[in-house]
Order: sequence, then structure tokens, then C-alpha cells
Amino acid sequence: MVATVRFAPSPTGLLHIGGLRTALFNFLFARKNNGKFILRIEDTDKSREVRGAVENIKETLRTFGLNWDVGPIFQSERLKTYHEHASRLVAQGDAYKCGCSEERIADLKKHAQAEKRPFRYDKHCLKNPAPSTGSGSNHFVIRQNVPEEGITSFEDLVYGKIQVANSTLDDGILVKSDGYPVYNFANVIDDHLMEITHVIRGEEFIPSTPKHILLYKSFGWQVPQFAHLPLLVDKKRQKLSKRSGDAAVKEYVEKGYLPEAILNFIAFLGWNPKTEQEIFSLDELIKAFDLEKVNKSAAVFDLEKLNWFNSHYIKEKPLSELLKYAQRYFPVTDTSPYPEEFLEKILEIEKGRLNKLSEVGERAGYFFQEPEYNKDLLSWKDMTGEEIKKSLEVSKKIIFNFQFSISKKEIEKTFFQEIGEGDKGTLLWPLRVALTGLRASPGPFEILEAFFCLQNGKETVLKRIQKAIDKI
Ligand code: GLU
Repeated sequence: MVATVRFAPSPTGLLHIGGLRTALFNFLFARKNNGKFILRIEDTDKSREVRGAVENIKETLRTFGLNWDVGPIFQSERLKTYHEHASRLVAQGDAYKCGCSEERIADLKKHAQAEKRPFRYDKHCLKNPAPSTGSGSNHFVIRQNVPEEGITSFEDLVYGKIQVANSTLDDGILVKSDGYPVYNFANVIDDHLMEITHVIRGEEFIPSTPKHILLYKSFGWQVPQFAHLPLLVDKKRQKLSKRSGDAAVKEYVEKGYLPEAILNFIAFLGWNPKTEQEIFSLDELIKAFDLEKVNKSAAVFDLEKLNWFNSHYIKEKPLSELLKYAQRYFPVTDTSPYPEEFLEKILEIEKGRLNKLSEVGERAGYFFQEPEYNKDLLSWKDMTGEEIKKSLEVSKKIIFNFQFSISKKEIEKTFFQEIGEGDKGTLLWPLRVALTGLRASPGPFEILEAFFCLQNGKETVLKRIQKAIDKI
């Protein structure tokens, strides 16, 4: 049998980190086992549907290379199938029509609450079936007829044996009065018809699984294997919230996290290879992935770890590729007037210091705009004004002879010849400040090298040095 899995999101919003993790683990399992990966959109709750959600799901999966083999299949286009199966259950007594009013249900819920017990529908309509009107009126729902006795159990591939007493399960609605099936029903029908062998999804679906198993049994179908993935928590072991990182994947991409980094990070949310290796490409993940290595303890979402992965991949990426991702973060509305070599040089200078690409904006501002700073900053140790002035004049003279696109090596050589046995700081500190206006920045040689990728680089640099001289 072909290992077949599905990612089955409901289009109720942008795809979040947890959803991407589910998609990734399903994808890895399918590829590892030469299986099939289906994308199924569970869109039967029209009231919760969000416009653009399906597009976002598809786009996000593509961004990360999680290509599906079949789909997207939309549940909303399969209503007939669900109705046929619901009728079959009704005919065999495993489901029944219920015409109870909302008021009656609300009343039952109120009673349950007062008696501090979980609400369970009292099977009133099973015991008192309404006479068939023959009109096909839709003012009823179809409920699952959960046995009152017995135990339902299953062997979860991650969590082990899970069992519940049927007496704790409610006769949940399978088909609503508007004709749409609920998740618990459509999900089972589709997993069976699509020949899903392994259901891999978040642990929040463990409580619903016994009801699903009862449905499989009612139909006489084989139950798939279940692997529930551990809860995502923050560092305080609280359920992940918006503030602690539960954001849309898109937001991370927009902040300048590279897809490889996000993917590598997410792979470790509940899984690890049981080796020392931390850096994994998608292909390496496929090779190493194994459901047996998925942990059941909650997975901690640690932003510092994500930053660590991201800084690794930023350093690794060829500059021309990095530039494609970083382009939007330079502190100018339009980078097109700047040559690529200039922008790449900036990335080369900064990439070792970046946790995310968006930081390039604040770090590299001085490349695009003349800096504002206090003249005191120009002084290295206890240099006097005269000494600073003299130092800047020397730099000016040296730089005046530089040609367009001069290399850092040559720049360095020329400066070091000038410095000889003297103190480096005396010459280089005022120059660096004149260029950047910053107390801490990359060194002046690499900055000069970047500026000399610009046609007007020399002019810009000399102007800044002159401005520094004039400040004193
Ligand atoms: N539609 C469910 C969700 O959005 C899928 C759960 C499952 O995989 O069974 O999470």
C-alpha cells in the first residue's frame, strides 16, 4: 500500500507556524516513504472562512518547497459524497436525524453546566423519531449515535495507547441543518476515500479521534494510523500565543527570515534526528525524518534558535541570491539606481551580524544617507581638534588617488603604508566616524570598498570627510 498522507487545513486565516509544521511532517513522511502527499482544503464551515486563506496556504507551501502531489481538493465540492454516507449511517442506525430546537439544546447545556458535567445530547430524537414528513425539510441535523457503553481506543504513533469510555463522548453533529458536514465527519469520509494511511496532525485533535474511530467502525472501514504532533509552547511552557511567536509564516518571511531557516527551525519543533546535526536542508530532512523520532512532550518555540538558524543561512547564501531576499530592506524606497555590486558589498559587510535581513535597514543607513553625529565622536582617545583635522586631511589625500571599484586589499595596503609604525586608531577612527557617524560599525576599508562601487563614491566619501573637518 502506498503511504498516503494529507495536509488538511481549514481556510480560516493565514497559515501559522504550527500549520506549516504539520504540512512539513506530512511532506517529509510522504517523500521518505515514496508516498503521496495530498492537499485538502477543509472548507465546510463557511462562516469561518477567510478570503485569501487558500491562496496563502498554497503560496506558503510553495515558498518552502512542500509540493503536494494531489489537490487542492475542496471539501465544499464534495457535499453529495458526505450526504450519501450520512444516509448510510442513518439507515443502519449509527446516526440519526435530530430536530431539537436551539432552545432545547441550550437548555440541556445549561443543565449540564449547573450539574458541572460535560454536555452530552440526550438522544431524545433517537428515542422519539419525528414522523417523516416526506417533504425533505432540512430543519434537522444528523447526529452520530455514539454507543453508551464500551471503550474506544487507538495506538497513536507518537502518544501511544489512548482510550476513552464511550459514555464520555457526545452524539456530535455530523451534518448541519444547512447541509454542510462538520469537520469530524467530512474528515473521516475523505481520509477513507482518499486512502490515507497515516493521519499526521496537531495534538489538539486527539480528543476528536475516538469519535472518528467509531465512524470508521460504523462503516466497517480500516482505521488509519494516527500520529499526533506535540503542542507548541513558549519558553514559559505556555501555549503559544500571538505574542510568543504564533504568527503567520508570512510575517516571518516578511521580517527577513529565510525559508531554509524557518524550515530547519520548524523541523525541530517536536522532532530531532537524535544526533548532533542541526543544519538540515529539505533533502537531508527527508532522509533523516522518522515518525518514531517525534516527541510527545511539548515543543518549545525559541525565537533565539530561529535567529541562530537564520544567521547561519544568511552567512551561507551566495550574495547574489541573498540580495533578492534583502532588496526590500535597504533604507531607500527604490534600490534600482544603486548597482548590484554596491548592495552586495553592503550585505557582505553586514551578513555576519544579522539575525534577520530586515536589520540591514537600520544597520546600513549611512550608506544611503549622510550621517548626523556629534563632533566629539571624531576623537580617538585624547586626540586634539588639530590632530583630528590633520588625520582627516591625510585620509582625504589618500582617498583622492583611489580609482573606481578599488578593492579592500588595495585600500588597506595604501593606508598601512601611510600609517607605518604609527597608531592605527589615530588615522582610522576619525575616518570611520566621518563615513558612518557611528560609535560602532564595520571597519573603514570595507566601507570604502563599498562606496567605490558607486560612480559618485569618491565624491560622497570626500564630501563626508570635508564635512567632518568643517565640524572641528
Ligand atoms: N481541518 C483541520 C485543521 O484545520 C484538519 C485536522 C486534521 O488534520 O484532521 O486543522
